[in-house]
Amino acid sequence: MLVPFLPNNAPFTEEQRQWLNGYFAGWVCGANGSATVPAFGGDGQVISGDGQAVGEPVLPEPEAPRYDRNNPFAARLLTNRPLNAKGSVKDVRHIEIDLSGSGLTYEVGDALGIIPQNCPALVGDLLEAFGWTGDEAVTLGDETLPLRDPLQHHRTITEPPKALLEAYAEQSGDGDLRAILENRDALNDFLWGRDVLDLALAYPDVRFEPQAFIDLLRPLAHRLYSISSSPKAHPGQVHLTVGAVRYEAHGRAKTGVCSTFLADRCLDETPLPVFVHHNNAFRLPTDPATPVIMVGPGTGIAPFRAFLEERKASGATGKNWLFFGDQHEATDYLYRDELEAFLSDGTLDRLDLAWSRDGAEKVYVQHRIREHAETLFAWLEDGGAFYVCGDASHMAKDVDAALFEVIRTASGLTEEAAADYLKQLKRAKRYLRDVY
Ligand SMILES: Cc1cc2nc3c(=O)[nH]c(=O)nc-3n(C[C@H](O)[C@H](O)[C@H](O)COP(=O)(O)OP(=O)(O)OC[C@H]3O[C@@H](n4cnc5c(N)ncnc54)[C@H](O)[C@@H]3O)c2cc1C
Repeated sequence: MLVPFLPNNAPFTEEQRQWLNGYFAGWVCGANGSATVPAFGGDGQVISGDGQAVGEPVLPEPEAPRYDRNNPFAARLLTNRPLNAKGSVKDVRHIEIDLSGSGLTYEVGDALGIIPQNCPALVGDLLEAFGWTGDEAVTLGDETLPLRDPLQHHRTITEPPKALLEAYAEQSGDGDLRAILENRDALNDFLWGRDVLDLALAYPDVRFEPQAFIDLLRPLAHRLYSISSSPKAHPGQVHLTVGAVRYEAHGRAKTGVCSTFLADRCLDETPLPVFVHHNNAFRLPTDPATPVIMVGPGTGIAPFRAFLEERKASGATGKNWLFFGDQHEATDYLYRDELEAFLSDGTLDRLDLAWSRDGAEKVYVQHRIREHAETLFAWLEDGGAFYVCGDASHMAKDVDAALFEVIRTASGLTEEAAADYLKQLKRAKRYLRDVY
């Protein structure tokens, strides 16, 4: 394989580029395909086997930076478009991000890591609760920063860490809080929907030095989002499908850090630190003729929009079946136009929809799966791969149970044999899940 030594911005004519690429191709891959290292003279000249200079000086290009969670690429937001219609209780956004110049590549099935910023209004409220200005000097690693910076960019100020709760219990002498800390279930209940500001407001007499406070907080973590685009359909871009987390708890309106950073606070000029999180455990079948069954309600649609774009762009011949659902057809039918276009151009062979709040009965994707047991089992018997994405706590379990029932009823197998069939699907990587 030709190693691309020459980036497009190298100062060569096209003729020189082709000659040099051909030259490198000769000895980058040995006869047995093994890679050899190109030889450079001391001044960067390309040296032939007999030691003669054969070209203009060529310095090896510095390796493209490898972006990861510790060294993210500062990308740019291109699009932030609501996917729900007015009247929905949901707020899901279609996000498009520019990756050009990064050298970052991804495959459908991968996720994008995003390093968010905290909400500045929450930072302001926290500073006010402690009587700080935000200009107090604190150190983080070997940097000295004004307190406001780590609170906005580097520390988790939503869920309080145990160390902070312990400091509150100790300083306040609150026995109930001490007891909560010693019981895992009680602690989880206490933490549900509580943030650091709730503690500051509940214990106004507890005071910290700014540095001690920062040291008690956890680092601000990145969030992952399933990529909802195919690089074949959108070169240089990555798309996401992000549900904004908003709720009321303990008397205050609260927001999820990263989802609302993307939905509300990230502007097109805001640097958006990203990295690609490769997920080889969630890939399209290598054989493009394999039938694919996708179950992705809500934001679970994300990787399947990418799969459909990819199968269309690559001309994959296998059939595609999507189960999608949400609360209301009128307001929550994410990507309706695109899915209908996939149906009419033949990319999608089947689309089954489940609306949980449109009728007297709540209908979910697992109900639709059961309704089509015979056909679904026929697709599996035809070598089909079954994919699930979205909510891990309920949906994925309900879909798993529905799939088991489909196999058992449509095949006539015993429970044991149906369980074995399901196991074989997993073993053959034909039952894959991307759930969170
Ligand atoms: C592999 C992977 C892929 C993912 N793909 C997607 C995707 O495609 N789209 C997508 O939207 N998300 C996706 N997620 C989830 C995403 O990473 C974030 O977890 C999500 O956006 C919430 O992050 P946040 O920072 O906005 O919220 P956080 O600041 O992390 O807040 C979330 C927390 O708020 C609390 N909370 C939430 N609601 C309530 C409530 N009603 N009452 C009390 N407390 C509450 C809970 O403690 C919850 O854990 C994915 C996750 C993984 C691991």
